[in-house]
Amino acid sequence: MEQLSLRYGYTQEYLEGLLSSVCGKTVSLKLTDNSSRMVSVSADDYAASVRVHRIFLEAEADVIRELALFVKKRNVKTPLINRFISQKSVELRGLSRRTGALNTFGRHHDLARAYESVNAEYFGGGIDAAITWGRAGRGRVVRRRTLGSYSFSSNTIRVNPVLDSRDVPEYYIRFIVYHEMLHACVGMDESGARRSIHPRRFREMERLFKDYQRAVDWERARGV
Ligand SMILES: [Zn+2]
Repeated sequence: MEQLSLRYGYTQEYLEGLLSSVCGKTVSLKLTDNSSRMVSVSADDYAASVRVHRIFLEAEADVIRELALFVKKRNVKTPLINRFISQKSVELRGLSRRTGALNTFGRHHDLARAYESVNAEYFGGGIDAAITWGRAGRGRVVRRRTLGSYSFSSNTIRVNPVLDSRDVPEYYIRFIVYHEMLHACVGMDESGARRSIHPRRFREMERLFKDYQRAVDWERARGV
């Protein structure tokens, strides 16, 4: 049969096999239309569950190799993936008008990774929100309350890009992400009008974060 236009470079099976052999783990690959989390990985030493946006079927081989390395080691820089995602962002914006093109890979911090691990550790993987770096603001002074936000209408967490700095510790990023995920969680529980943005129960739950005191101390020392 003749294929007139070959839209994608790989099939899912081929990509799954490629990732498995390059990263040396049994990879189970799921393609998504989720432009809020373009790449998400959970892995142990032997197996990895990988979810990527289907646009990755069009990626160049070196982007896929970098993806495999990321699946294998996690703690690696991903310049090719970042560039690929930003190149595709116009196309993706068309695919996801409601939330716009979201980006989770920062220069220093990977929001998707923070989100996935906080979700697993504190919410049993039960939160299903989108997450992205927000747009850079013009002002230099940033208040605590604008470091992160959660929109109920679009179910999207936004983190202020001023935090995408090597001066900002990973646990603080995770704290901000945890805080915004709590909004998603509490919102789901009450499923009605929220009387207070941070009710007492919210503050109690916030303190359950493992590095709560460390995060608050760091914030104070930085005068955030
Ligand atoms: Zn809040």
